[in-house]
Amino acid sequence: MTVQFQVRPTDRPTPPQTREEILTDPGFGRYFTDHMVTVAWTPDAGWHDHQVTALAPITLHPGAAVLHYAQEILEGLKAFRHADGSVWLFRPTLNARRFAASSRRLVLPELDEETFVESVAALVRADEAWVPGYGGEQSLYLRPFMYATEAFLGVRPARQVTYSVIACPAGAYFPGGVTGVTLWISTRYSRAAIGGTGSAKCGGNYAASLDPQREALEHGCEQVLYLGGEQRRDIDESGTMNVFFVTADQELLTPSLGTILDGVTRDSVLTLAATHGLKPVERSISLDELRAGLADGTVTEAFAAGTAAVITPIVGFKSEEFTASVGDGEPGTYTRQFREHLLDIQYGRAEDTHGWMHRV
Ligand code: PMP
Repeated sequence: MTVQFQVRPTDRPTPPQTREEILTDPGFGRYFTDHMVTVAWTPDAGWHDHQVTALAPITLHPGAAVLHYAQEILEGLKAFRHADGSVWLFRPTLNARRFAASSRRLVLPELDEETFVESVAALVRADEAWVPGYGGEQSLYLRPFMYATEAFLGVRPARQVTYSVIACPAGAYFPGGVTGVTLWISTRYSRAAIGGTGSAKCGGNYAASLDPQREALEHGCEQVLYLGGEQRRDIDESGTMNVFFVTADQELLTPSLGTILDGVTRDSVLTLAATHGLKPVERSISLDELRAGLADGTVTEAFAAGTAAVITPIVGFKSEEFTASVGDGEPGTYTRQFREHLLDIQYGRAEDTHGWMHRV
């Protein structure tokens, strides 16, 4: 049976005019909607108090485990408005499954898939006016997260946990047209170790990415490309995106799952590959292979995939060892095709042959 969320609408909603002003240029992560979801958990009561209430600051005991040991996980997905005004989520059950996998790694209680999807849908319904209109590649970004609230400084799984969902309107990622990024291949930092938390979506992974990201910016690159594997010589992923390579013999190459995040966009691109005449291949890709492929033209395109930007063309790589551009340094044809195809599905312009869209 579907869990019912108790909805207590805010008595102080953002004035419509202010909201409309925000929606003309929301950027990303700066403005929050009027409501939030909260659900509490203890070992005895299980999940309880499923609520949608006014967005408000939370009160935490200074000894709350999350503040000390980062027992926390998160998700990210978007709601899209279609031309007929209806609002849809993109593959939310995959986020639900990944959230459950993250909770197992961080020893947080599991939330069932149905409650996860319903919690997100309930927030979107409460904040429907915050879903930007159709046509500008805007969306409502949803951020489910779970954290240990128990005040206890011993290192063990917390016995008091909160699940929450908040939302932010998100502007078009490439308002001036799609442009490519250059990735800094960090030989100094790792994102994930074998047996670590790389495949979980936990806050600590992102805290650890801030210094490598600073290093990338210092070298004139937009993002980091991390290395992994036994020897730390295999392509892993970027800070918030999975990476793909198109080869001259029509393969779509991407690193196998293991230490990387199992991206929803990654899975979608792999599923669509055949439609675009490419053979999807998941395997380890060494830095040496990438470098050689860029030099001899075997690697014809590179792109990154993730919820925020959908598809970001990668036009170059830099490291302590080499600098290389991809093809002619412009976003590639397949890269553009994947981007358009995914956006067309998300905004309801292409047939949803895989049943990926979930109406709110
Ligand atoms: N890798 C990392 C580390 C990420 O944070 C994200 C964003 N969630 C991705 C990959 C892409 O995953 P998705 O396509 O599900 O957004």
